Amino acid sequence: MRLTNYFLPTLKEEPKEAEIVSHRLMLRAGMIKQQAAGLYSWLPLGYKVLRKIQTIIEQEQNRAGAIQMLMPTLQPAELWRESGRYDSFGKEMLRITDRHDRDLLFGPTNEEMITDIFRSYVRSYKELPLNLYHIQWKFRDEIRPRFGTMRSREFLMKDAYSFDIDREAAEKTYQRMFVAYLRTYFRMGLTAIPMRAETGPIGGDLSHEFIVLAETGESAVFCDRDILQKPIPARDTDFNGDLSAIVDEWTTPYAATEDMVDMEEFEQKVPEERRIAARGIEVGQLFYFGSKYSASMNANVTEADGKDVAVHSGSYGIGLTRLVPALIEAFHDENGIVWPVSVAPFEVILINLKAGDELCSKTCDSLYGQLQTAGLDVLYDDTSGGAGGKFANADLVGIPFQLIIGPRGAKSGEAEIKNRKTGERETMPIENAVQYLKDIIEPERRDTV
Ligand code: ATP
Ligand code: MG
Repeated sequence: MRLTNYFLPTLKEEPKEAEIVSHRLMLRAGMIKQQAAGLYSWLPLGYKVLRKIQTIIEQEQNRAGAIQMLMPTLQPAELWRESGRYDSFGKEMLRITDRHDRDLLFGPTNEEMITDIFRSYVRSYKELPLNLYHIQWKFRDEIRPRFGTMRSREFLMKDAYSFDIDREAAEKTYQRMFVAYLRTYFRMGLTAIPMRAETGPIGGDLSHEFIVLAETGESAVFCDRDILQKPIPARDTDFNGDLSAIVDEWTTPYAATEDMVDMEEFEQKVPEERRIAARGIEVGQLFYFGSKYSASMNANVTEADGKDVAVHSGSYGIGLTRLVPALIEAFHDENGIVWPVSVAPFEVILINLKAGDELCSKTCDSLYGQLQTAGLDVLYDDTSGGAGGKFANADLVGIPFQLIIGPRGAKSGEAEIKNRKTGERETMPIENAVQYLKDIIEPERRDTV
C-alpha cells in the first residue's frame, strides 16, 4: 500500500479524552474514531490489525474442531424469555421494538440463539459432539464505557458454543478450547494466563478467564510466577486425543481473579518470591454450564438406550476489539506502538526520505515491487514530507521493520533497516534488503509454530 493512496489520519497532539496509553495510541495512530459513547469506527489501520487477530482466532478454533457460522446481531426477545434471562440481564441489554411492536434485543451473547438452532436440528447423541462459533458484534450497554475499545458498548467477540452428551465429554471439549486459547494468544505474541474465574450471568460451575497482565487492567489477579514458564502446546497437538495433561499442567500453579481468590490459600500455596499480585485485562473466558440452557429451552437428544437427556454445554468467548488495546498495553514505548509481527498492520514500512529525488524514488518503487513479490505486507511511505515527520510517524504506528532509503543511499547502493522493537539500525547493500527482511519476518509470523 502506498501511503499517498492510503487513509491514515494520525494525530500529532495527545488526545485529552484518553486515560490509558493504548487508547491514546489508537487515536494518535489513526486506528479508531469514536462515534458516540462506547461506539467506534475502525479506520483502515485499526481494521487491518483486527482482521489479523480474527484470522489467528479462526485458524485455532478450526484446528480445535469448532465450526464457524454467523448469527444475526438482533435477536427476538422470546428466546430470552424462555431461558429467563430477558429480565435478569438488566439494563446492559439494549432492547428494541420494531415497527410491528415486536420485542427485539441487540445480542450481548448468544447462548439462547445457538440453543434454539441446536434443538431445531439435532436429535441424537450420534450427532455429538458439536461446537459452533461465530465472530459477531455484541452490544452491552455498559454503565461506564471507557478506555476506548477496551470497554466499549459495541464490541466484536468470538463466541463458541459446545454440545456434548454428558459432563465427561463436555470437559473434553472444554479442554480443547483451553488449549486452543493458549495457542491463540501465544500466536499474537501475548502471554495470557488462564485463571479460575466466577461465571457471572452466563452461569455454570467451571470457568477460566484468560488474563493479560497490565497495570491498566481492570481486574486484580493473583498467581504463581511458575505459570509463566509453562510450554505452549504445539501446532500438531492432537485435538482428538487426551489433552488433560496439558490442562493439568497449566491449572496446577495458583492463578485466580479477585472474585475467586482465597488469600489464605494463595499465601499458603505460593512462596512469597513467586507471588504475583497484579492487575490484568480479561481477553477471553471459558464456561462450562451443563444443562443450564438446554433444560429450560428443551434442547434434548436421544441417548443410545433411547432415553432423552438435556445436552451439556459450554461457551467460549474472546474479545477481539479488546485484544487490540491489550496488545498495545503490552507492546509500546515512548514513541508509539511496537507491534509483534503476527498482528502488525503491515510488516515493513518502506520510507522514501526524498520523494522528489528521481533516483531515490526509482529505487524505492523497485523495492516496493520486490517486497510485495516476496510476500511481505508493506506500507510504502512515498509522501513528500520531511524525514523527521516520517520517522516519527513510522515509530508511532509501530510497523516492526523500517526500510529506509535516502538520496545518498540510493546513489551508493545502501539501505538502512531499523528494527522498531530494539531500535537497532543496520546498513546493507540494497539488493540484500528484501531477502534479509523476509528471513526475519517469516518465522515471526508464528503461523507455523
Ligand atoms: P467484563 O468482565 O470485562 O465486563 P465479561 O466477563 O462480562 O467482561 P464475557 O461475557 O466473558 O465478558 O465476554 C467474553 C469476552 O468479550 C471477554 O473476555 C472480553 O474480552 C470481551 N468483552 C466483554 N465485554 C466487553 C466490552 N464491554 N468491551 C470490549 N470487550 C468486551
Ligand atoms: Mg468474562
